[in-house]
Amino acid sequence: MRVAIIGATGSIGTQALDVASEHPERFTVVALAAGSESERFSTLRSAHPHAHAITGGSREDLVALIEASAPDLVLVASTGLVALPATLAALRGGAAVAIANKETIVAGGELVIAAAREAAARVGTSVLERLRPVDSEHSALWQCLAGEDPASVATLWLTASGGPFRERGAAEIAMATAEEALAHPTWTMGAKITIDSASLVNKGLEVIEAHRLFAVPMAQIHIAIHPQSVVHGLVEFTGGSTKAQLGVPDMRSPIAYAMGYPERMATRVRSVNLLERGTLSFDAPDLVRFPGLRLALEAGTRGQAATGTLIAADDVAVTRFLAGEMRFGGIPALIEAALTQFAHAASPRDAADVLALDEEVRTFARGWRPSAALARGTHA
Ligand code: NDP
Ligand code: MG
Repeated sequence: MRVAIIGATGSIGTQALDVASEHPERFTVVALAAGSESERFSTLRSAHPHAHAITGGSREDLVALIEASAPDLVLVASTGLVALPATLAALRGGAAVAIANKETIVAGGELVIAAAREAAARVGTSVLERLRPVDSEHSALWQCLAGEDPASVATLWLTASGGPFRERGAAEIAMATAEEALAHPTWTMGAKITIDSASLVNKGLEVIEAHRLFAVPMAQIHIAIHPQSVVHGLVEFTGGSTKAQLGVPDMRSPIAYAMGYPERMATRVRSVNLLERGTLSFDAPDLVRFPGLRLALEAGTRGQAATGTLIAADDVAVTRFLAGEMRFGGIPALIEAALTQFAHAASPRDAADVLALDEEVRTFARGWRPSAALARGTHA
């Protein structure tokens, strides 16, 4: 199978290459893309001398890369929306897409799902075989849904570790700094998603992702705070039965499931040892202490213009927070301001609309000023 990896040097990209290298008889890496020239990227170039390799590519460059390399499978593991047109091009060109990049599904999901649906009808497979979730919770739900009748699905549950601020008070969370927010208790990930996990915005994005990928209404998708990160997702079916997926927190497992589907490939990830794990706990999320989660869930019920606004505002907010321009509470404050400002934005009809809204929201978010309390004590 010919594989293209967009975001090859990142946390997910690196682990995907690790999975591919364990199955050299199965995968040939035909394209590699990263944001910048780095030592890691030049090592990858040497390891895959026949692959098309680009850095700092534009949206159009990434489309050209997919067209030139003719992959069977594209792993989308970049950040932001740079790979949205390439994702659509891959699906339309007949490749399966393993999607880690949640920005694409949250901002442009309806378009991507429509492209996946058409592709699935063309080749006679399921939508999820064409557009394969990589995110651990969505992989869990996909695994629970395998072989089930969609009409018998009552409720989806996603778990969240709760992040480093799980037990802190609202005021303390609002005043937190980047260093505190970057200390994730269970997963090692890129900086953006680590901050989103601390604010629980990530979980809101994931509920939206699940809503789009599995075509289940927002109101039927629930969150459980589960600090051990062992159960990743659950599906309740008609008749009172619930299925859950368990695994140690290691992304190589969901990456391998997406890359090998429908086969379960061997990985170096070990199974959960329930006897060693001991107690597993589950709690309801607190939408008051984590206003970013409340805002994300509200945006999810309002459609693609609101979810596109959410993801662009959050991205700029996280960048400004990491740059020390504001305290942690500035993130939900900025998201709320953007959702109000763009409350009447028209729903995007194509990729150009999605990207235009994204740019408008980013411009607004870069100019937004935090309150004095949220800016205080930072080095702005
Ligand atoms: P990282 O920040 O670790 O990696 C991002 C990757 O994208 C890097 O390889 C980066 O290259 C590359 N990139 C940046 N710009 C471009 C471009 N123009 N063309 C091609 N590649 C580019 O992020 P993560 O791996 O953590 O996350 C990737 C995506 O997966 C995100 O959307 C995230 O939400 C999602 N995700 C991540 C999880 C995780 O465990 N990490 C779990 C679930 C989802 P360079 O290094 O040169 O800048
Ligand atoms: Mg996740």
